[in-house]
Amino acid sequence: MTSINEQQVPVASPVIGEAEIDAVVQVLRSGNVVQGPEVAAFEECFSALVDGRICVAVNSGTSALHLLLLALGIGRGDEVVVPSFSFAASANAVRLTGADVVFADIEPDGFGLDPAAVEAAITPRTAAIMPVHLYGHPAAMDRLTPIAERRGLAVVEDACQAHTAALHGKPVGAFGAGGAFSFYPTKNMHALEGGMVTTADPELARTVRLLRNQGMEQRYANEIVGANMRMTDVSAAVGRVQLGRLAAWTERRRANAAYLDDHITAPAVTVPPVAEGARHVYHQYTVRIRGDRDAAMARLTGAGIGNAVYYPTPIHRLKPYWEPDQKAGRTWDLPETDKAADEVVSLPVHPSLTEGDLERVVTAVNALGENP
Ligand SMILES: *Cc1c(COP(=O)(O)O)cnc(C)c1O
Repeated sequence: MTSINEQQVPVASPVIGEAEIDAVVQVLRSGNVVQGPEVAAFEECFSALVDGRICVAVNSGTSALHLLLLALGIGRGDEVVVPSFSFAASANAVRLTGADVVFADIEPDGFGLDPAAVEAAITPRTAAIMPVHLYGHPAAMDRLTPIAERRGLAVVEDACQAHTAALHGKPVGAFGAGGAFSFYPTKNMHALEGGMVTTADPELARTVRLLRNQGMEQRYANEIVGANMRMTDVSAAVGRVQLGRLAAWTERRRANAAYLDDHITAPAVTVPPVAEGARHVYHQYTVRIRGDRDAAMARLTGAGIGNAVYYPTPIHRLKPYWEPDQKAGRTWDLPETDKAADEVVSLPVHPSLTEGDLERVVTAVNALGENP
């Protein structure tokens, strides 16, 4: 029954261990399952990862982005500059506020927003820039932040894949007006589901807290219109256990990536670039394949190596985006985004990999040779 799984090296492997189960049982026995002391403790602990910024826990990474944008006052008539080479949640959070998404291209030698493209995308309606720290590699914050400052724009960091990634020693989620993290099971750490808003601004944090809870600080004394985007104490308890494991797991991811970097030699394969001063936390280990990617993926799968494309369709080519653009006669020229979407493949890098697994990944990848 397990023979197939034994042969496969999976591309992701979320952990739900005994400690997580014990923590959940404890919360259930306490009877205090909704947003309570575990959520407060999780927020407090997470703050250490983002230079002591204020943390507000919510029910998903998408909610974290959405509430941050709302709290910044972004809505109808505003534009937010977003990379199209990301998970749809980045752009969805903008559209859910009523604001318009303006797509900017990524850098040719990486997967993050290209500062020159961002500069060119700014209009009088631009309210914010949303860099995405894709795959766990920090976006070019050292070049994006000055643009935002000069143009008077907010920076909202999508750090959903990048827990403890950093640039020149500064952690992601500590650069912009606010940062958003996800605790979905496949992320570097999880809370079953969940998200975190990080900010240095106490007023912004207070608004996010109001928005996540029907606009209430005092019960039934609603101050603004809000939603229910609270994290449960069950999730927070899991998140706290996982937070305790994150440093060791991240070092394993980085060590696994270093091994792959050192041993992958197939000319058809380009290993993930790392910018100067960047701490990459390898949510994904994403290579580019020259030649026939489908054939390469089929060969990897045949060799029992899990692999996946994140993301095969750039956001601007997804129906909820191209359809209104088409109606408005708007087109995007994003050659680097389209190129990346055609070339990328993510390989197993997660902390559960054994040395034997890594050797099998390398053997299968190097067998691709010059051109799959
Ligand atoms: C996972 C993810 C999100 C959304 O997080 P959820 O917790 O799934 O809502 C947003 N942006 C990126 C880049 C992500 O990878």
